[in-house]
Amino acid sequence: MPVQTDDPMRHLVRIFRAQRVITMAGPDATAFATCGEQVVAVGSGAEMRTRFPRAEVIDLDHVVVPGFHDAHAHPSWGAKSKLHVDLSPERVGNRAALTTALSEAAARTPPRRWIRAERYDHMRTTGGQSIDRAFLDGISREHPILVVHIAGHWAVTNSAGLTAGGLDDDTEPPAGGDLGRDGAGRLNGLLYERSLSAYTSPTAGRPAPILPEPAPEEFLQGLDQFAGELHAAGVTSICDALVSPQVLRHYQEAERRGRLSLRVATLIRHPFLDGLADVGIMSGFGGDRVRVVGVKAFVDGAVAGRTCLLDRPFHDSAGHDDHGIQVADVAMLTDLAIRAQRAGIRLGVHANGDRAISLLLDALEAADRATPERTRLRHRIEHCSIVTPEILARMRALDLIAVPFGSYVWYHGDALLEWYGAARLERMFAHRSFLDSGITVAGSSDYPCGPVEPLLAVQSCVTRTSANGDLLGPSQRISVREALALYTVGSASATGEEATKGRLAPGYLADFVVLGADPETSAPDEIGRIPVVSTWVGAEQVTSRTA
Ligand SMILES: [Zn+2]
Repeated sequence: MPVQTDDPMRHLVRIFRAQRVITMAGPDATAFATCGEQVVAVGSGAEMRTRFPRAEVIDLDHVVVPGFHDAHAHPSWGAKSKLHVDLSPERVGNRAALTTALSEAAARTPPRRWIRAERYDHMRTTGGQSIDRAFLDGISREHPILVVHIAGHWAVTNSAGLTAGGLDDDTEPPAGGDLGRDGAGRLNGLLYERSLSAYTSPTAGRPAPILPEPAPEEFLQGLDQFAGELHAAGVTSICDALVSPQVLRHYQEAERRGRLSLRVATLIRHPFLDGLADVGIMSGFGGDRVRVVGVKAFVDGAVAGRTCLLDRPFHDSAGHDDHGIQVADVAMLTDLAIRAQRAGIRLGVHANGDRAISLLLDALEAADRATPERTRLRHRIEHCSIVTPEILARMRALDLIAVPFGSYVWYHGDALLEWYGAARLERMFAHRSFLDSGITVAGSSDYPCGPVEPLLAVQSCVTRTSANGDLLGPSQRISVREALALYTVGSASATGEEATKGRLAPGYLADFVVLGADPETSAPDEIGRIPVVSTWVGAEQVTSRTA
C-alpha cells in the first residue's frame, strides 16, 4: 500500500487496533481507520500505519464488534421511567418489597400527584397473582397510582386513579380495551390495552393522556441516564418503536443541544401518518442521529402479557378457548397500508401471534395489489413471535423484515412454557426459520418488556435456554455470528440504514463496541456476562474511560 503523504485528511484520521475486529463485512481484521464519524479503511495495524503514517493510534486490545443496534425498544419510555418507580423483579422481588417501594414513593410525593411505577412482574413479584385496586388503596388513597406491568399492555390503578380517569363501575371499556372487575362486577383496578393507553399516551380522542407528560428538561435528564445504561451494554443505535410528536421534539432538542450520544430512529404513532404525508416526510427523513423510519400500528396484545392473538388457544386455557386480544381489523390495516405505500412511509406493525400475523399479511398483500405503481416498501413486522411455514413464505414474497424479541427465551422462558407449550415454542422467536427462509431479521429487546443487553440476547438466541436452565424451542438456535448479525446488519436493514450501519467497513459509521472476551470462543451460556469494555459512537467514546 503506497504512503499517502498528500492526504489532506491525515490529521483527522485515527487508527484503532484490536486483537480482532469482527467487521460483519467480509473477513475479520485487526485494525481500522476513522475520519470524523466514519470508517475509512479496514485491515491490519501495519496496513493502516502505512496508509496513514501520521494518524493517532488507539490500542483497544480485546475484540471489537460493530455497535449494537436495537431495532425495537422504547427509549422514551426508558427515559421517562427514570422519573418513575422501578419495580423490576430483579429489584422488587416479593410483595413486601413491592409495598415498601410504593409506600416510600407515596411518602415523598405531594398529595394528588401521580405515582407511576414500571416493570411490575406479577409472575415473579407476586406469585402469578396480580395486585389490585384494594392493594393500591392500602398504599394510598391520597395519590392516584398507576402500576404498569412489565410487558406494558396492562396496568393496575387505585380508586383515586380510576376517578382521575373518569372510570366507575358503570363504565364500558373502549374498543380494543378492557377493565378488570371483581366477582361483584366492581372495577378491580386492572386496565388492559386501550383502557391503559388512555392513561399514558395521546390518542385520537384525547390529545393529552390522563397522566401528565414530563417537562422537556426532565425528559432529557432521564434520556441521558437511560442512554448511559444503553452504552454500558454496547448499544449505539436504537429504534424507538412508539413515538408521539412531543417525544420526536424531545429527541430533536437533545440533538440540538449536543446531548444525543445515542442514534435514535423512530416509528411514529400511526394516527400521524397523514400529517407526515401532507408535508412530504418519507421513511429515512432526518439525519444519522434522529431519523423517521415509519409509522407504528398494532394488531394484537403481548407475548409476555399473555394477550397475543393465537390460531390455537393458550396452552393453559383448557376449556376456555382463549385466543388472545385483537386490537385492529384487516380493513383498518389495509387502509393504513395503502396510505403508507402511497406516502413512501414504512409500516412497523406489532403482530405477535400467528393469527395476528396472518391478518396483517392479508392487509399488506391487499395494499400491495392496490398500489402496483409504487416501489414496494420493506415493511416491518414487530415481534412476529409465532410463525408457520405459510407465514414465512408470505413474508418472503413481500420482502418484509421480522423484528423478533432477542432475549425472551432467557428472560420470560418459564411463563412462556406454561402459556404457549413446548411444541409452539419451536415456532416462536423463530430466528432459525427466518434466516433459513431468506427473511431479513433484526435484533430487538422491546425494553422495558425485556432486558436491554444485546449480549444476553445473543446468548438467548444461541442457547435457547431460559434463566432457569430450560431448553425452549431448540430447533430455532442460531450461531453466535448469526446472532451478532441480528443486532448489527439486521437492525440496520430494519431502520433503512444498511448502507451506513451494522458493519465496520469504509463508508460506514464508526460505531463500535470493545468486548472483554470473544463471544465466538466463549462458552455459549457465558456470552451474556462478557464485559463491555467501552462503546464508541462516531469514533467518540460514550462510555466512561474508567471501564
Ligand atoms: Zn414495543
